[in-house]
Amino acid sequence: MTITVGTMSTSAHPSADVIAADSTVTDRLVQANEQYAAAFTDPGMDARPVLGVAVVACMDARLDLHAALGLELGDCHTIRNAGGVVTDDVIRSLTISQRALGTRSVVLIHHTGCGLESLTEEFRHELEMEVGQRPAWAVEAFRDVDQDVRQSMQRVRTSPFLLHKGDVRGFVFDVTTGLLREIDPT
Ligand SMILES: [Zn+2]
Repeated sequence: MTITVGTMSTSAHPSADVIAADSTVTDRLVQANEQYAAAFTDPGMDARPVLGVAVVACMDARLDLHAALGLELGDCHTIRNAGGVVTDDVIRSLTISQRALGTRSVVLIHHTGCGLESLTEEFRHELEMEVGQRPAWAVEAFRDVDQDVRQSMQRVRTSPFLLHKGDVRGFVFDVTTGLLREIDPT
């Protein structure tokens, strides 16, 4: 049975093929969540990641971290942004991850064909011209993905806020093969 409420359709038994023509992508996600929750059982975990690892990765839609790394619910922290760049905010999350939630290992994952390879810091200048305000953040564009992973590893290793810097490894994920390639930090 499908009940139409305003412009949004809801269903007692939502399925992928019961999507109203006027539903938005978010409506679709909410429907999928109803199905997810229907089959969900409380795993009874606390917030500390089972494997004690934090993964910092690009937000790229082709990178399914849990599938690519064999991770299960509750195993790890995932911290994602454009490029998988170790920004101050990523350091903030890693600091909380290590000091409040017990993680000890850091895995950094960048990937082939990243959108940041086609940008430059000129992006900020163009933004400023358009909106009249210069963003406080760097674009963190790069040309050499291996070097970018090395820089990210270095930022983690030199952060004064982190407790555990002995197990920090960096990789490039190939979006065409699904394989990780480890980057030598030196
Ligand atoms: Zn990317």
